[in-house]
Amino acid sequence: MALMLSSAAMRVSNFNAGPAGLPLPVLERAQGELLDYAGTGMSIMEHSHRGKTYEAVHDEAIALLRELAGIPDTHHVLFLQGGASLQFAMLPMNFLGEGKSADYVNTGHWSERAIDEAKYYGKPRIAASTAGDKFTRVPRQEELDLDPNAAYVHITTNNTIEGSQWLAEPDTGGVPLVGDMSSDFLWRKPDIARYGMIYAGAQKNLGPSGVVLVVARKDFVDRARTDIPTIFRYATFAKNNSLYNTPPTFAIYLVRNVLLWIKEMGGPEKLEARNREKAALVYGAIDGSSGYYRAPVARDSRSVMNIVFRLPGEALEEQFVKEATKAGMIGLKGHRSVGGIRASTYNAVSVEDCAKLASFMRTFAEKNPG
Ligand SMILES: *Cc1c(COP(=O)(O)O)cnc(C)c1O
Repeated sequence: MALMLSSAAMRVSNFNAGPAGLPLPVLERAQGELLDYAGTGMSIMEHSHRGKTYEAVHDEAIALLRELAGIPDTHHVLFLQGGASLQFAMLPMNFLGEGKSADYVNTGHWSERAIDEAKYYGKPRIAASTAGDKFTRVPRQEELDLDPNAAYVHITTNNTIEGSQWLAEPDTGGVPLVGDMSSDFLWRKPDIARYGMIYAGAQKNLGPSGVVLVVARKDFVDRARTDIPTIFRYATFAKNNSLYNTPPTFAIYLVRNVLLWIKEMGGPEKLEARNREKAALVYGAIDGSSGYYRAPVARDSRSVMNIVFRLPGEALEEQFVKEATKAGMIGLKGHRSVGGIRASTYNAVSVEDCAKLASFMRTFAEKNPG
């Protein structure tokens, strides 16, 4: 067999927006266990989802979520499929209907997708929108026009494409707050008690694609409709510990491994400090560039997870991405709808990756004046 590089040496600095990089120890563990999980003579993905071996992994993932994210007993922890996109539809399907309305805050592309889907089941009311500012910020509390009779208020806690983030939850009075946390779940310890429900596709900050985490207040789920197909009811997953039908077992196993890695790293408090340090390195390179790099997002809405910036021209942006790729930093091209550069600095991205990017940015600006 050919001599192989060590795993660490062949890994790139992965700034992909999603699916995103996974921590190396998580992948190495999966590699080591792939053919023979815990002496059972088969992979975890070849186990029955009704067997003891898989069930232990499933339950450990849920217990770790409760522990690390501080999820109280008032809330269910559920694993679903269909991506965050299915949640755009499933949420209104469960809580809207004839004559019912829900409030939506429009802060960008993914908020708009959520609003579009709600139209099939009831009335999505726009409680606030920053479209007029090209989504370069999230709204302030006093800008929210909330309906006290709304079934829920939906926000996108981190706008993956535009690079803005809610750094504090809005006050929605007695109306349940629902957060799409697909791109920032566990960037720090969330304040779950503030939410009626959160959902997060795993492939950005929590694991591989194929599984979506839903955390929902029990009394909120109790209010949901029962005249929709069984598979679309949150109550079905709650009643069956997310084992109503075959769950994405391998994806959940990997989520479990990511959670164990987070615990080993010192938990979400440590991750938060690390994420802030990472973001400070990249925003520091932007702000210290005398205007060469421009961050379009307002300072108080800047995302810690998706750092969006522009160069003095599109040709330079293209060259930037090309040279960064050559230097081992991949995934830096901005979303096709907004252009520019986007560095996604999720939990699995290291401080060293961000320091490397910041240093590359300084050198690039010196060598290629605008
Ligand atoms: C990626 C993303 C989605 C879409 O996720 P899918 O799993 O592809 O459906 C929705 N919302 C946000 C905030 C995202 O970042």
